[in-house]
Amino acid sequence: MANYYTGFICNNGHVRSSYGECSETFCPECGSEVLHQCPSCNTLIRGIKNDDFSSFYKYKRPNYCFKCSKPLPWTEKILENSVELLSLDTQLDSETKALIKNALPDLLVETPTTNVAIAKYQTYMSGASKIVKDGMRNLLVDVLSETVKKSLFG
Ligand SMILES: [Zn+2]
Ligand SMILES: [Zn+2]
Repeated sequence: MANYYTGFICNNGHVRSSYGECSETFCPECGSEVLHQCPSCNTLIRGIKNDDFSSFYKYKRPNYCFKCSKPLPWTEKILENSVELLSLDTQLDSETKALIKNALPDLLVETPTTNVAIAKYQTYMSGASKIVKDGMRNLLVDVLSETVKKSLFG
Protein backbone atom coordinates (compact mmCIF):
# COMPACT_ATOMS: atom_id res chain seq x y z
CA MET A 1 0.00 0.00 0.00
CA ALA A 2 1.29 3.40 -0.93
CA ASN A 3 2.07 5.96 1.66
CA TYR A 4 1.72 9.67 1.32
CA TYR A 5 4.09 12.54 1.67
CA THR A 6 2.90 15.26 3.98
CA GLY A 7 1.15 18.22 2.40
CA PHE A 8 1.89 21.77 3.52
CA ILE A 9 -1.00 24.11 2.91
CA CYS A 10 -1.71 27.56 4.30
CA ASN A 11 -4.89 28.43 6.19
CA ASN A 12 -6.27 30.05 3.07
CA GLY A 13 -5.64 26.97 0.95
CA HIS A 14 -2.44 27.83 -0.93
CA VAL A 15 -0.54 24.60 -1.48
CA ARG A 16 3.07 25.20 -0.40
CA SER A 17 4.34 21.65 -0.79
CA SER A 18 2.83 18.28 -1.61
CA TYR A 19 5.99 16.18 -1.19
CA GLY A 20 6.73 16.53 2.49
CA GLU A 21 9.24 19.34 2.51
CA CYS A 22 8.52 22.93 3.34
CA SER A 23 10.45 25.39 5.44
CA GLU A 24 7.81 28.09 5.41
CA THR A 25 6.00 28.93 8.64
CA PHE A 26 3.83 31.50 6.92
CA CYS A 27 2.48 31.61 3.41
CA PRO A 28 4.41 34.02 1.15
CA GLU A 29 1.23 34.60 -0.87
CA CYS A 30 -1.16 35.63 1.90
CA GLY A 31 0.78 35.66 5.18
CA SER A 32 -1.34 33.09 6.97
CA GLU A 33 0.07 30.09 8.79
CA VAL A 34 1.24 27.06 6.83
CA LEU A 35 -0.23 23.84 8.20
CA HIS A 36 0.80 20.23 7.79
CA GLN A 37 -1.62 18.77 10.30
CA CYS A 38 -5.36 18.81 10.77
CA PRO A 39 -6.01 21.42 13.49
CA SER A 40 -8.73 19.21 15.00
CA CYS A 41 -6.96 15.87 15.32
CA ASN A 42 -3.32 16.57 14.40
CA THR A 43 -3.32 13.99 11.61
CA LEU A 44 -0.78 14.83 8.92
CA ILE A 45 -2.29 16.38 5.83
CA ARG A 46 -1.86 14.16 2.81
CA GLY A 47 0.38 15.25 -0.01
CA ILE A 48 1.14 13.11 -3.05
CA LYS A 49 1.66 9.35 -2.91
CA ASN A 50 5.30 8.57 -2.25
CA ASP A 51 5.50 6.00 -5.03
CA ASP A 52 3.95 8.16 -7.72
CA PHE A 53 5.76 11.37 -8.34
CA SER A 54 3.75 12.05 -11.49
CA SER A 55 0.81 12.86 -9.24
CA PHE A 56 2.74 15.99 -8.30
CA TYR A 57 1.15 17.77 -11.24
CA LYS A 58 -2.34 16.57 -10.42
CA TYR A 59 -2.24 17.21 -6.70
CA LYS A 60 -5.44 18.64 -5.32
CA ARG A 61 -5.51 19.82 -1.74
CA PRO A 62 -7.92 17.83 0.42
CA ASN A 63 -11.14 19.54 1.50
CA TYR A 64 -11.68 17.44 4.62
CA CYS A 65 -9.50 15.60 7.10
CA PHE A 66 -9.46 11.91 6.16
CA LYS A 67 -9.17 10.94 9.82
CA CYS A 68 -11.72 13.07 11.70
CA SER A 69 -13.78 14.30 8.72
CA LYS A 70 -13.73 17.94 9.84
CA PRO A 71 -13.48 20.52 7.07
CA LEU A 72 -9.87 21.74 6.83
CA PRO A 73 -9.39 25.48 7.49
CA TRP A 74 -9.57 26.57 3.83
CA THR A 75 -12.78 24.61 3.33
CA GLU A 76 -14.22 25.99 6.53
CA LYS A 77 -13.39 29.52 5.40
CA ILE A 78 -15.23 29.07 2.13
CA LEU A 79 -18.25 27.68 3.95
CA GLU A 80 -18.14 30.44 6.58
CA ASN A 81 -17.71 33.19 4.02
CA SER A 82 -20.55 31.81 1.90
CA VAL A 83 -22.84 31.79 4.90
CA GLU A 84 -21.81 35.32 5.79
CA LEU A 85 -22.41 36.56 2.25
CA LEU A 86 -25.76 34.87 2.22
CA SER A 87 -26.70 36.56 5.48
CA LEU A 88 -26.16 39.94 3.81
CA ASP A 89 -28.90 39.23 1.31
CA THR A 90 -32.07 41.18 1.91
CA GLN A 91 -34.38 39.34 -0.46
CA LEU A 92 -34.32 35.78 0.83
CA ASP A 93 -36.07 34.74 4.03
CA SER A 94 -34.13 32.92 6.72
CA GLU A 95 -35.66 29.57 5.86
CA THR A 96 -34.44 29.83 2.28
CA LYS A 97 -31.01 30.91 3.47
CA ALA A 98 -30.85 27.87 5.72
CA LEU A 99 -31.70 25.57 2.80
CA ILE A 100 -28.91 27.05 0.69
CA LYS A 101 -26.49 26.90 3.60
CA ASN A 102 -27.18 23.21 4.12
CA ALA A 103 -26.64 22.50 0.43
CA LEU A 104 -23.19 24.13 0.34
CA PRO A 105 -21.07 21.21 1.62
CA ASP A 106 -22.53 18.94 -1.06
CA LEU A 107 -21.51 21.42 -3.73
CA LEU A 108 -17.87 21.39 -2.65
CA VAL A 109 -17.50 17.64 -2.89
CA GLU A 110 -19.31 15.23 -5.18
CA THR A 111 -21.59 13.04 -3.14
CA PRO A 112 -24.84 11.25 -3.92
CA THR A 113 -26.56 14.40 -2.68
CA THR A 114 -24.71 16.77 -5.00
CA ASN A 115 -27.42 16.82 -7.67
CA VAL A 116 -30.02 17.69 -5.09
CA ALA A 117 -27.72 20.41 -3.75
CA ILE A 118 -27.30 21.84 -7.26
CA ALA A 119 -31.07 21.97 -7.72
CA LYS A 120 -31.53 23.63 -4.36
CA TYR A 121 -28.83 26.18 -5.03
CA GLN A 122 -30.26 27.06 -8.44
CA THR A 123 -33.83 27.23 -7.23
CA TYR A 124 -33.28 29.26 -4.10
CA MET A 125 -30.36 31.45 -5.14
CA SER A 126 -32.36 32.76 -8.09
CA GLY A 127 -34.26 34.93 -5.63
CA ALA A 128 -31.13 36.43 -4.10
CA SER A 129 -29.88 39.92 -4.89
CA LYS A 130 -27.39 40.23 -7.72
CA ILE A 131 -24.57 41.37 -5.49
CA VAL A 132 -24.87 38.33 -3.23
CA LYS A 133 -25.30 35.99 -6.20
CA ASP A 134 -22.14 37.34 -7.83
CA GLY A 135 -20.24 37.23 -4.56
CA MET A 136 -21.17 33.59 -3.99
CA ARG A 137 -20.16 32.74 -7.52
CA ASN A 138 -16.73 34.32 -7.08
CA LEU A 139 -16.24 32.56 -3.79
CA LEU A 140 -17.31 29.13 -4.97
CA VAL A 141 -16.01 29.04 -8.52
CA ASP A 142 -12.46 28.07 -7.53
CA VAL A 143 -13.43 25.25 -5.25
CA LEU A 144 -16.32 23.51 -6.98
CA SER A 145 -15.70 20.37 -8.97
CA GLU A 146 -15.86 20.75 -12.75
CA THR A 147 -19.24 19.05 -12.96
CA VAL A 148 -20.82 21.22 -10.31
CA LYS A 149 -19.26 24.34 -11.77
CA LYS A 150 -20.70 23.56 -15.20
CA SER A 151 -24.16 22.89 -13.83
CA LEU A 152 -24.24 26.02 -11.73
CA PHE A 153 -22.37 28.59 -13.72
CA GLY A 154 -22.28 27.21 -17.27
ZN1 LIG B 1 -1.67 31.52 1.55
ZN1 LIG C 1 -8.65 15.72 11.56
